[in-house]
Amino acid sequence: MSRYWSQITKRIKPYVPGEQPRDRTYIKLNTNENPYPPSPRVIEAIISEAGEVLRRYPDPQCTALRQTVAQYYGLEVEQVFCGNGSDELLAFSFLAFFNPGTPILFPDITYSFYPVYCTLYHLDYELVPLDTSFQVPVEKFFEVNGGIVLANPNAPTGSCLPVSSLRDILEHNLGSVVIIDEAYIDFGGETARPLLKDFPNLLIIQTLSKSRSLAGLRVGFALGHQELIEGLRRVKDSFNSYTLDRLALAGGIAALEDDAYYRDTITKVIATRERIASALKDAGFFVVPSQANFLFLTHPAAQAADLYQQLRDRGVLVRHFNLPRIDNYLRVSIGTDEEMDIFLGCITELVGAAR
Ligand SMILES: *Cc1c(COP(=O)(O)O)cnc(C)c1O
Repeated sequence: MSRYWSQITKRIKPYVPGEQPRDRTYIKLNTNENPYPPSPRVIEAIISEAGEVLRRYPDPQCTALRQTVAQYYGLEVEQVFCGNGSDELLAFSFLAFFNPGTPILFPDITYSFYPVYCTLYHLDYELVPLDTSFQVPVEKFFEVNGGIVLANPNAPTGSCLPVSSLRDILEHNLGSVVIIDEAYIDFGGETARPLLKDFPNLLIIQTLSKSRSLAGLRVGFALGHQELIEGLRRVKDSFNSYTLDRLALAGGIAALEDDAYYRDTITKVIATRERIASALKDAGFFVVPSQANFLFLTHPAAQAADLYQQLRDRGVLVRHFNLPRIDNYLRVSIGTDEEMDIFLGCITELVGAAR
């Protein structure tokens, strides 16, 4: 704490990202990165943009990338907004659409960045407890609120609500903005995109970080009614006009254009997820059904904190959240088949030893 800090800086409780250790090489299953490289066309596009043109500012409206996204999903370019990763889009959205006073609703177990934005912006929030099987209790989101944020599929559980439930939530909340964070939607969940035409209060946030293997490039986009998009632009242009650089814009477009590569990648991740989930269940683990690129698991005879450390000692890095209700669970990102076989070998041996 420094006396020179502003009141806000003293108040905030920053998000703690998953570690990116440099002390040794780990099998890294802790931040839901994609184990496969980005499309070669992304690399080509970035290399060809990396020239004299960097002298010039990028397009502050991200027009070409927005057109690519709009065309990809059959939307109007006015319904698309691009950001420096979806975290930035969330940061802008909380400021653009939520007010102090009436609480923002989100689940008690979800992406832990949401409460951080609330504290930053002085927004009140109410945690809605997931049920005992970690499912979202839909009716709890019908009560009066100042806005709703749902990760769908949820993190760190991997569970996904069907579109019918999202429609229900939107119909009960025509007076507030409902943000659906679809960071993991490409791994098998049902997207809320078909609801965009019916609900001017729906904002969908997606990212190229997970399904397009581009966590390092920082490209996300929001989809919503033209007026919500205009709200995001007002906030962005009050912070920083050039949130996406030229390399990110070029790489993002190329990623969406190489659809065959993307489909191949997610097919592999999903197949690995299903194979490992069933092997873990055979080994006595409880595994939450996942529609994301990670698994959330617990073992009745082992302490998750111990497993985390023992896996780490063996060079396998997973995520353990020391939080109420989930402190005996591990979140394990889906790696390559080879990486997951090593993980599986280690963890089954560890719980065998723990019995
Ligand atoms: C990874 C993740 C994000 C952030 O993704 P970026 O686009 O890399 O900023 C947002 N929401 C959820 C739920 C995530 O898991």
